[in-house]
Amino acid sequence: MIEIEKITLYHLSMNLKKPFKNSIETLQERKFLIVEAIDTSGVTGWGEVSAFSSPWYTEETIETCLHMLKDFFIPNVVGREFNHPSDVPDSLARYKGNRMAKAGLESAVWDLYAKKKGISLAEALGGTRDKIPAGVVVGLAPLDDMLKEIERYQKEGYQRIKIKIQPGHDVELVKAIRSRFPNIPLMADANSSYGLKDISRLKELDEYHLMMIEQPLQADDIVDHRHLQKHLKTAICLDESICSADDARRAIELGSCKIINIKPSRVGGLTEALKIHDLCREHQMQVWCGGMLETGISRAQNVALASLPQFTIPGDISSSSRYWDEDIVTPDIRIDNGFISVSKQPGLGVEVNQDIMRKYVTKMDVFTQHG
Ligand SMILES: [Mg+2]
Repeated sequence: MIEIEKITLYHLSMNLKKPFKNSIETLQERKFLIVEAIDTSGVTGWGEVSAFSSPWYTEETIETCLHMLKDFFIPNVVGREFNHPSDVPDSLARYKGNRMAKAGLESAVWDLYAKKKGISLAEALGGTRDKIPAGVVVGLAPLDDMLKEIERYQKEGYQRIKIKIQPGHDVELVKAIRSRFPNIPLMADANSSYGLKDISRLKELDEYHLMMIEQPLQADDIVDHRHLQKHLKTAICLDESICSADDARRAIELGSCKIINIKPSRVGGLTEALKIHDLCREHQMQVWCGGMLETGISRAQNVALASLPQFTIPGDISSSSRYWDEDIVTPDIRIDNGFISVSKQPGLGVEVNQDIMRKYVTKMDVFTQHG
């Protein structure tokens, strides 16, 4: 039994090693809300809200998450008893949407639960692997820089390279990368930048044996992707379109994709991620675990999740040093010969380093049962 006594939200602002460009802004400063949940027996669990500062990936932002957590979700959880972390999403089900805010809170309870049981998060989730293959994302940049970066990541042992594509930066870019690296496992993420009118353009990508094209069409679409998949040899992977196990079921039924990217934060937490995993396993749909430029808290959580059997493709799970000069957890997440080992320590298997975290904390909010 878990009874949450106190929740602390740490507002963090960290500097990315390299700026990250999305469709709205170029990010240098990455903000997070880190969730610390303590139960009445004194055990602590950690979670992370990994929404971005602007709504380019989903409609949520770090500010909307703060609003939801403070005014609805945390008051609903503090002082309440839970048998299992999967009871948390049930208790929040009457609040619509806002999945990233929910996921941050639920993940702290998962860590707490596993620690109380003295088992690793991977074991609590049903993981079966002791190491997972690492993949990495190369941002859009001048071609020579991208080629150098790919070469460096290959040397570091990453087992899959992902690039971002958009109209105007697609076929020629993939062709140039393929002519230099004919055989690397390569995939392209379009983040919804195409429409059905672009079918012939996307078909041109078929000759470069990409592992998949991720999320070519709109985030709220499952039907048009079905039409597109019929025209493409390359597998479509859905990311933004899959917000729940029900979405995954619809995509499977319609044939809208051949692969699903599971991000716990996008689907409302680990409980829903597990449901999607199990459904995909039943239907032999391949899955992998995506990333959100996160701290080691989410990174450790994603490693645990990716140790489940249906995660057959290397995810966007890279070393802490890819993004941060110093991560807020110890040990930080590292690549060894292209793999990241799955911790056997209780819970996430990493400790939040309070001395390091304090450097990045801009504000704290504390919630207890009696205010
Ligand atoms: Mg994506």
